[in-house]
Amino acid sequence: MKEVLESLTYFNEWQRIYEERLKSSLKKDSYISKHLPLLLKGIEKSRKAFEVTGSFSFCAKCASSGTKCCERGLEWMVSPAEFLLNLLLFEKTGKRLKLNIDRKTDCLFLGEKGCALIYTPIFCRNFFCPELSEFLGKEKLTFIQKEMEDEARLGFVLSDYITKKYILEAEKEVKRLLSRYQ
Ligand code: SF4
Ligand code: SF4
Repeated sequence: MKEVLESLTYFNEWQRIYEERLKSSLKKDSYISKHLPLLLKGIEKSRKAFEVTGSFSFCAKCASSGTKCCERGLEWMVSPAEFLLNLLLFEKTGKRLKLNIDRKTDCLFLGEKGCALIYTPIFCRNFFCPELSEFLGKEKLTFIQKEMEDEARLGFVLSDYITKKYILEAEKEVKRLLSRYQ
């Protein structure tokens, strides 16, 4: 499916299913309501760690020099549950997700100032290229990884919960819909 379909179509379908079928139940779910603010706190804690260690500015300089690690295709690392979780977070924070449809060689979720997602998939969060790792050094790297623990744990718990309770049926619908393109 991934080879044949554009990622934009795939995530647009998930967005439609979220709006038409899942949003109201997801928003009423007490387990999600309880954990979502904690996840936001965890994300903020991670963000601060990236900021104070200089990681964000190092990556910003790197990106402006033309190097790219958020390449087109990496959006497939975002699972349906992580995507739905992001849609809930955007709703909760009153922000709007803007997909990258103009820069064809960049990840669908890469914005002007880095990743446009609120909850970046763990695969991406855990990526420290050799240059960034060397710039940070062992102590700062360990600090960042420790500060990311809440986000990682809560993100995993919520994604797992959403997958088991909401996605398995919906995924059948997505596959049926998208099979028209295959
Ligand atoms: S992770 Fe590495 S390649 Fe990616 S933007 Fe940062 S410094 Fe550049
Ligand atoms: S960090 Fe965001 S923009 Fe970069 S590859 Fe991962 S999902 Fe895409």
